[in-house]
Amino acid sequence: MQKGAILVLSGPSGAGKSTIINAASDEIGEYYFSISTTTRAPRVGEEDGKDYFFVTKESFEEDIKAGNFLEYAEVHGNYYGTSLKPVREALEEGKLVIFDIDVQGHRLVRAKMNDITTSAFITPPTLKALETRLRARSTDDESVIVKRIENAKGEIKAVGEYDFTIINDTVEEATKRFVIVAKAARLKQSTEDQEKFVEQWLANN
Ligand code: ADP
Ligand code: 5GP
Repeated sequence: MQKGAILVLSGPSGAGKSTIINAASDEIGEYYFSISTTTRAPRVGEEDGKDYFFVTKESFEEDIKAGNFLEYAEVHGNYYGTSLKPVREALEEGKLVIFDIDVQGHRLVRAKMNDITTSAFITPPTLKALETRLRARSTDDESVIVKRIENAKGEIKAVGEYDFTIINDTVEEATKRFVIVAKAARLKQSTEDQEKFVEQWLANN
């Protein structure tokens, strides 16, 4: 059986990543969404264990020391990280594992699991549109919004590191494109699986 594959989604906070994953979830088949751990405070409506695992800085730093993260990064002054264990399990079960992580996290995942990774950068059409959406979401203080916009100006420059760019102009069109990318990501074979396939292909003559 083919082992699982990874789909990394990055893009500025407010780009529409959660909106698009939710809109596509019925169409992309079984997947495991990697729930990150963070030291940032929950937003109104966010649930521990569903949106993130919300932890203290001390607890996060213990997990770093214990080697529990596949990758972690500091974003907007808080820690965010992906725990290794559930990702490994989902991959063993052959699932598509979706990450919503920043550009630093993408680089680290590429360094460790390049062969099974597909990536897409999701962004609103303009900086102005991003700003409007962050304000309309009204989940963050003004100072947080300003920080996110400043961060976005840096992140957009990494767009060329990704396999695909999805411009989220309308949710409908962006979701259609995302579904295509997710289906393609699922077909990506690991180097190990490819080698096995070639061996069997040659043996069956
Ligand atoms: P992210 O998960 O990337 O931080 P969200 O999915 O929370 O972003 O989207 C940010 C805000 O923008 C939300 O209020 C969402 O409803 C809104 N939004 C998402 N996509 C669009 C779009 N295509 N047009 C207008 N608003 C959008
Ligand atoms: P937010 O605070 O809006 O939920 O997320 C802020 C940023 O952190 C987003 O760019 C998001 O993709 C990123 N992020 C969320 N979880 C992780 C993670 O586990 N690792 C890394 N590297 N970035 C993450």
